[in-house]
Amino acid sequence: MTNTTFSALVARNDDGHSVAYESLSDADLGDADVTIAVEYSTLNYKDGLAVTGAAPIVQQYPLILGIDLAGTVEQSGHAEFAVGDRVVLNGYGASEFLNGGYTQRARVKGDLLVKLPDGLTTRQAMAIGTAGYTAMLCVLALEEGGVKPGDGEVLVTGAAGGVGSVALALLRTLGYRTVASTGRASESAFLQQLGANEVMDRTALSERGKPLQKERWAGVVDCVGSQTLANCLAQTRYGGVVAACGLAQGADLPATVMPFILRSVRLQGVDSVQAPMARRLEAWSRLARDLDIQALESLSFDLPFSQLLERAPDILAGKIRGRAIIDLSG
Ligand code: NDP
Repeated sequence: MTNTTFSALVARNDDGHSVAYESLSDADLGDADVTIAVEYSTLNYKDGLAVTGAAPIVQQYPLILGIDLAGTVEQSGHAEFAVGDRVVLNGYGASEFLNGGYTQRARVKGDLLVKLPDGLTTRQAMAIGTAGYTAMLCVLALEEGGVKPGDGEVLVTGAAGGVGSVALALLRTLGYRTVASTGRASESAFLQQLGANEVMDRTALSERGKPLQKERWAGVVDCVGSQTLANCLAQTRYGGVVAACGLAQGADLPATVMPFILRSVRLQGVDSVQAPMARRLEAWSRLARDLDIQALESLSFDLPFSQLLERAPDILAGKIRGRAIIDLSG
């Protein structure tokens, strides 16, 4: 064990939720069987909530924030991990009740870690992060529901965000025809470059609509919830699948059962946080195979760790495009 100090973003609850950069040592990392030199993390919607305290994500204080990390194993007491292995942690309670990824060093239970597939660097893994891994889970849900590329258009809502942008890139590689719903018309060229065949204004989906509408979508990846999800269901074609992962518009679902009982529409929930290990390994292996690395580069940008605290509210305000990569190795 080293006594080196390192930097981390820590939430405390001395007089309400407060977050600050702190200098820590290994003694602050608690007990777990794998010690990691963290190289990269990222900024997801949930991180925005945890850093700002806009929702009660943090369940235990003090806590290192960040739901994602990627790095290299420095010490391991776990049979499946050896020094030098490149690993990722997504969710599993990180930033809720377990220390997370906004740190230069981490100690994590090996049972929660995924060994990175060959072909993905730790930097690329965090360009993907929980958002990209969730996008893959949504695509798997469409595939398992029987949605094939020739079946018709797939709608992606919240398209310029992290989950949406990676979903578009994945669907393009897999040969689907996609429509991107966004509130940011200025991002149309970016969305088309990622693979959207068409871009639509999200207001067409965000207002109250009829329980059954003109059938259009063979599948939907919905990051938005609320009225948008209700309209997605009402517009999905007979036997189509809606993969619901997000709540950017709201956590409510003001829908009727009509799409289910008259069109056999399937609503598939998608959770990344407690997804079983086998599902995670499948998702990461498919990401290594199916995600166009050039597309990943084009949708990622560098966010200095020193600016994370001030930029975190931007993701809640819909001002972040694509995926932020935070370099912690320095
Ligand atoms: P981002 O903030 O990157 O993307 C969300 C996008 O939703 C925005 O970019 C915006 O897209 C759109 N949006 C924002 N506000 C509204 C609104 N009021 N009405 C309609 N659309 C809106 O977040 P992520 O991509 O990281 O996450 C997307 C969602 O998925 C979040 O709700 C997040 O909590 C959830 N999530 C769930 C996971 C799970 O395990 N189920 C895992 C990861 C994320 P645009 O600008 O294109 O309109």
